[in-house]
Amino acid sequence: MATVQTLIREEVLALSAYQVPDARGLVKLDAMENPYPLPAALAEELGHLLARAPVNRYPDADAKALKAAIRRALPVPGDCDILLGNGSDEIIQLLALAVAKPGAVLASVEPTFVMFRMIATFTGLRHVACSLRSDFTLDVEAVLALLERERPALLFLATPNNPTGNAFARADIERIARAVPGLLVIDEAYYAFGDTSHLDLAGLAPNVLVMRTFSKLGLAGLRLGFLVGPKHWLEQVDKLRLPYNVNVLTQRCATRLLESYDQLAAQAEAIRVERGELERELAEVRGVEVFASEANFLLFRIAGAAAVFDGLVARGVLIKNVSRAHSLLADCLRVTVGTRAENTRFLAALRETVAV
Ligand code: PMP
Repeated sequence: MATVQTLIREEVLALSAYQVPDARGLVKLDAMENPYPLPAALAEELGHLLARAPVNRYPDADAKALKAAIRRALPVPGDCDILLGNGSDEIIQLLALAVAKPGAVLASVEPTFVMFRMIATFTGLRHVACSLRSDFTLDVEAVLALLERERPALLFLATPNNPTGNAFARADIERIARAVPGLLVIDEAYYAFGDTSHLDLAGLAPNVLVMRTFSKLGLAGLRLGFLVGPKHWLEQVDKLRLPYNVNVLTQRCATRLLESYDQLAAQAEAIRVERGELERELAEVRGVEVFASEANFLLFRIAGAAAVFDGLVARGVLIKNVSRAHSLLADCLRVTVGTRAENTRFLAALRETVAV
């Protein structure tokens, strides 16, 4: 009879599951969530809207109303299609599944979002990556050499990048877009906290897709991401999407909330302001080096990062220890920008920890 060892794929046996730590009772600054609740009037209205949602029926498999709302709220090029995912994680998986021929390659730069590598493994793709420069900028020559050598089916670039927080130069991305042998997927999960958008590139360049999520805009619990690109690409990926991947409650909520996109954007703007405050104060803590960020989190370096992380948890604050994720991240921790009160608690806990 089959055992776990004989039945499960070797690469799955070798994986460690994506870690989601228990944050109960802690100030939660580990997952790039928006710290603000929905504006009260909107929350109230959603309550009524959801009470009438036909949960006995399957949702609209095409989510037509939601896609139209996305087009009204955001500058999606008119000649591009939209594909929706249960979070952008699901979209990464769909893209990978679509190209997973034997020997096919999924490429990224590192350090970056860990799901690119994990999903390559899930779907039987070979993952290759080249390193960012030590200041976390793109090493374009290295990326071009990787494209030439490995001919990846997919190249993912997250800008602003997680966990480094910086955005890549648009000119560098355009150079890479002209050279990709397969598809370039620009992951703009953090677009709301920076100054650049690449949505237009999805319409201009034949092999560029742009992915976004509403998770960082205050809707992480809804699980909604989307991909923008030419119809001939998206209609193939869409064949792999399970028919009702975006549930009726998410569709209704998001469609309504996108009508009030300015309120979501205002929260993102408030987070940018808090990021500036947090960055200034963090830089003053003894031994801390903070990196510039265009996202809703800050990466910082501090000697003995693992012990500092534990010291923060002991004082009731959960951030993310990324110090072992990549050699460029040695002694680095990542903190999500919270409310003013949460940031103050984090800073107090950090000052106490380093004073010990
Ligand atoms: N891309 C990047 C760069 C991310 O950091 C994240 C979330 N941490 C995602 C995609 C996935 O977001 P979601 O699945 O919530 O849409």
